[in-house]
Amino acid sequence: MTTSATFQPVLERIAEEMERRPGRGRAADYIPALAAFDPNRFGMAIAEPDGTVYGVGEWRQPFSAQSVTKVFTLALQLAREGDELWEHVGREPSGNPFNSLVQLEYENGIPRNPFINAGALVVTDRLHTRTGDAAGALLDFLRAESGNPELTFDRAVAASETAHGDRNAALAHFMASYGNIDNPVPVLLGQYFRQCSIEASCADLALATGFLARHGVRADGTRLLTRSQAKQVNAVMLTCGTYDAAGEFAYRVGLPGKSGVGGGIIAVVPGRCTLCVWSPGLDERGNSVAGVAALDRFTTLTGLSVF
Ligand code: GLU
Repeated sequence: MTTSATFQPVLERIAEEMERRPGRGRAADYIPALAAFDPNRFGMAIAEPDGTVYGVGEWRQPFSAQSVTKVFTLALQLAREGDELWEHVGREPSGNPFNSLVQLEYENGIPRNPFINAGALVVTDRLHTRTGDAAGALLDFLRAESGNPELTFDRAVAASETAHGDRNAALAHFMASYGNIDNPVPVLLGQYFRQCSIEASCADLALATGFLARHGVRADGTRLLTRSQAKQVNAVMLTCGTYDAAGEFAYRVGLPGKSGVGGGIIAVVPGRCTLCVWSPGLDERGNSVAGVAALDRFTTLTGLSVF
């Protein structure tokens, strides 16, 4: 098993291997502002529970966090609402694409899990009701946990998503018809697209995920989640965090993880460290090709997986 002193050489070895790897997928093009990224870019960071952070490649380059943010809104809302949240959103893998409408109809507007778009919309809606500014509460949390006060929204990405947001609007309206959305749909969509547009680096996101390695405790030592809730969030990441490829991700990487179409993936080794990798080239399910490969190499080389 690896000790922290050896994280930097492991990262460097992984980055070298990734450079030699052919075929890195394609940047997401359904949000035009994301399509311009070179799929070959790569960065990776590891943060220890005490805030020590190691990195390689473009680990300080901000990128569009997108669905990675769904972990943080889930944690913020679970902290506020507790188990009642699970009456409005399930926690089973969906096996369907992240923006699928089909399951909502026969499940009465209750999304399968908080990481498909429908489920994330429900969580953001409930967080918005309680805070008056869900995206703002998320940004404050990420700034505090990463120690980076400069984190911010990318207005161009949020505008690009708004202009191409018909599917998310359909999901929100459909759930509203079942009474599972509190806020007016345009308000909710504005919050959700701002949330997704947050720009952060691998270092920022590895640090911000630290509370999940610390069993619910924030960077300043205060508790966000109970130990049991932190376990629950990690479990939902493991089973639902990488779109309809969560089984494959568990098989290859063996860690709770959450990906986003900006090419980022966060992952947790409970009690030991958190990771964030970024490379914009995606596979057909929306996961970063080099990102999954790099995490696969990390757990293989270090033995640090939950299995
Ligand atoms: N904002 C994106 C959407 O709702 C998030 C996609 C993602 O990263 O999975 O389409």
